Amino acid sequence: MHELSLCDSIAKAVIQNAHGRRVSSIRLRIGALRQVVPETLVFCWSVASRGPLLDGSVLEVEQVPAEIECGSCGTRSELTRFNLSCPNCGDPKVKVVAGEEMLIDSIEVAEEPDPPAAPPPADMLTK
Ligand SMILES: [Zn+2]
Repeated sequence: MHELSLCDSIAKAVIQNAHGRRVSSIRLRIGALRQVVPETLVFCWSVASRGPLLDGSVLEVEQVPAEIECGSCGTRSELTRFNLSCPNCGDPKVKVVAGEEMLIDSIEVAEEPDPPAAPPPADMLTK
């Protein structure tokens, strides 16, 4: 599964940046063109985030809309499958300027000493 291998890469990057501290939550920004279903990614994270540093951590996914920029007038607009040309001047020479990113926005590490682990919200996986 695409999302599961993605989670592996996220886990590696998070562990690298956590410098041995326990991670409580991760915010991830992901472009709409990445073809990733945020709910699936969050579910996969609950499976992939094993280990002393990641166990119990929460992945928050923010989806970034895809945007195009017009080569003629510079107008930026959200890319939908219906507007592959500029909505302002109609020029089809647009380029995609957002929507392919995938980056870790922030990592929250747990304060020391560890508070007792709170159970994850029940609606976390069903949203
Ligand atoms: Zn234009």
